[in-house]
Amino acid sequence: MSNQDQALIFELTKPGRVGYSLPENDVPEIALEEFLSSDYIRIEEPELPEVSELDIMRHYTALSKRNHGVDSGFYPLGSCTMKYNPKINENIARIPGFAHIHPLQDESTVQGAMELLYDLQEHLKEITGMDEVTLQPAAGAHGEWTGLMMIRAFHEANGDTNRTKVIVPDSAHGTNPASATVAGFETVTVKSDDQGLVDLDDLRKVVDENTAALMLTNPNTLGLFEEHILEMAEIVHSAGGKLYYDGANLNAVLSKARPGDMGFDVVHLNLHKTFTGPHGGGGPGSGPVGVKADLISYLPKPVLMKRDGEYQFDYDRPQAIGRVKPFYGNFGINVRAYTYIRTMGPDGLKAVTEFAVLNANYMMRRLAPYFDLPFDKHCKHEFVLSGKRQKKLGVRTLDIAKRLLDFGYHPPTIYFPLNVEECIMIEPTETESKETLDEFINAMIQIAKEAEDNPEIVQEAPHTTVLKRLDETTAARKPILRYQKG
Ligand SMILES: *Cc1c(COP(=O)(O)O)cnc(C)c1O
Repeated sequence: MSNQDQALIFELTKPGRVGYSLPENDVPEIALEEFLSSDYIRIEEPELPEVSELDIMRHYTALSKRNHGVDSGFYPLGSCTMKYNPKINENIARIPGFAHIHPLQDESTVQGAMELLYDLQEHLKEITGMDEVTLQPAAGAHGEWTGLMMIRAFHEANGDTNRTKVIVPDSAHGTNPASATVAGFETVTVKSDDQGLVDLDDLRKVVDENTAALMLTNPNTLGLFEEHILEMAEIVHSAGGKLYYDGANLNAVLSKARPGDMGFDVVHLNLHKTFTGPHGGGGPGSGPVGVKADLISYLPKPVLMKRDGEYQFDYDRPQAIGRVKPFYGNFGINVRAYTYIRTMGPDGLKAVTEFAVLNANYMMRRLAPYFDLPFDKHCKHEFVLSGKRQKKLGVRTLDIAKRLLDFGYHPPTIYFPLNVEECIMIEPTETESKETLDEFINAMIQIAKEAEDNPEIVQEAPHTTVLKRLDETTAARKPILRYQKG
């Protein structure tokens, strides 16, 4: 039996086998009908797996070993900042005074937790150059939407109700146009020029009296710094629009440059990327939003304040866009980010940026002879290659990504951003050693050579994983999300 066949044997049920033991019932049985209408009462027994405790333990342990995470190997997924998550963050988040408090506790009994959140806000204000910060949003996209709703409220309060358009570059992260749409705006695309930067002439053409905001990532998703940012800010501001900074990946500017100094009015951060919250697999995130003074009154309520030496949640915010998250955001992730900022200090954060940028440029220059480099200039925290040369040999970028699995790597981001053909987007991060970078570079070089000499080995990859090529369309269209017997 091949590995592939074995992997497909998922069903371990043997009727009658049990993996738990419960004490005898010592409370009176109740009739469900007294509490629930019959529509909600199950008539047939649920079909659950019947396995022993040991079997279920081995099942989940085997599945966990098939997982790839930052703790098991290199993970250069561009635009995702898969850096190491220091374990001291976990220790601090597990301190009982943080881990065991209840969100409904009286404010007077959780002053320490509120102080930590307040102090985190202060640090994020300093890091971004903004005047106020909310920690409510639970993810980057959530922060984008929150920021756009504030911009919307600002324009409406000024009687500016025709500002219906949000401008987004063609290299933008997919969440940008999505958030703009969910916030009720129409998105307008602004083109990139042949240098990979926003085309200023095109920007002048699309900005008008209907512009609510320009959303921008700087450095952009190609890893390139938008050098004309001050001019762009001037174009948008003089037309009455606001500038939104997608700060999901701050690894290239941390402690070096601040969105607030570049002319941005709103910024969100992904604490689960730059600030080492663990992420992937849809776990809890944190996407704080910072704003300049003229947007403070629209911040979601409550706003965490310090008054007379006491920390308080201020609900008296008549212009607030409302609440965007129960309680005050994902507390555990905020504790981890705070721990990270405090352990690194300003000099440590500066070093993060320097090593992230150095690692990306080192890798880019070493790979440039073997792959096409669409933008041949200094990059920031990430860079893009193009697999055009390999495509001519019959090896697609998808094949290269699959072949990397044989070497034990999570592949880079591929086919994104959309404005680069056969795009391969690599973000090594600052936490990787030179040895790891070199091993990955060698794997990429070997694959480039295989594409020339032995393309089948790349086209048919992966060879070493439990499952081979998956049917991604069926997985996306007809996912099986719960246990089905048999
Ligand atoms: C990851 C990312 C986002 C979205 O963040 P989520 O927390 O996944 O919602 C937005 N913009 C950029 C540039 C990103 O890299």
